[in-house]
Amino acid sequence: MAWVFSKKIAKRFGLERDVSNMNIKTSRRNALKVGTLAALSFGAYRSFAGPNDGSVSLRQSTLLSDAFEDGKYVLPKLPYDYNALEPLYEQRTLKIHHQKHHAGYVKGLNRTLEKLSQANQTRDYSSIKALSRALAFHGSGHILHCLFWHSMKPGGSKVPDELSDAMKRDFGSVSAARMQFAAAAKAVEASGWAIFAYEPIGGKLLVLQAEKHQNLSIWGVVPLMVCDVWEHAYYLQYANDRGAWVDNFMKLANWEFAQKRLSSARSKV
Ligand code: MN
Repeated sequence: MAWVFSKKIAKRFGLERDVSNMNIKTSRRNALKVGTLAALSFGAYRSFAGPNDGSVSLRQSTLLSDAFEDGKYVLPKLPYDYNALEPLYEQRTLKIHHQKHHAGYVKGLNRTLEKLSQANQTRDYSSIKALSRALAFHGSGHILHCLFWHSMKPGGSKVPDELSDAMKRDFGSVSAARMQFAAAAKAVEASGWAIFAYEPIGGKLLVLQAEKHQNLSIWGVVPLMVCDVWEHAYYLQYANDRGAWVDNFMKLANWEFAQKRLSSARSKV
């Protein structure tokens, strides 16, 4: 399941030290961070760090570090053999899913980032809507599939104690958390995902549905600064002139806050 975090995986991704250093009894929040790492934290580091800023600490701190190499997103290896999940998930389905579908997202994500780089060089933003959409589609596709492969384990697993405590607190019981996750997955309209997630302001575990996954957001990123362009945010003052509101928002923009959020996100894992 999505909340599983095995020591073996930690070792594989260089996180073993982080896990063993953790004072689990006194730091439930930290435990949750690791336990639900999958739901957060990937991607944003690398996007904002840029291709040449992969310091050792940053690299070691990323659970899914084999999904990005030398400035490019790459298709990671599966954490098990193609036949390891049979008969519950057949080799043929898994192989096509990984080698065709996931690989397609990786290719699309890199291609979109190249086009965005050209747009920034030429200051030509005429395709920004299509490019933003493509970025969200391929970016979420890549990140969610990276998480998905690790969300399954041959033979399944038990819910670890720390996670179990958090599930009891936030869902009432472990079985309620499991049932809510399964119910949400079954009820996703058309294509999409069920997502077991950690919400860092309240420190809460949540189950969310994502319809499709490209609705202009990348699951896994950490928001650093936001501009509200719902009509309620500007209509009284600016009526339909959203452009004027955005231009003035940019004059108010708090990049220091964004920097603090970036530092916090980078140090989280
Ligand atoms: Mn898929």
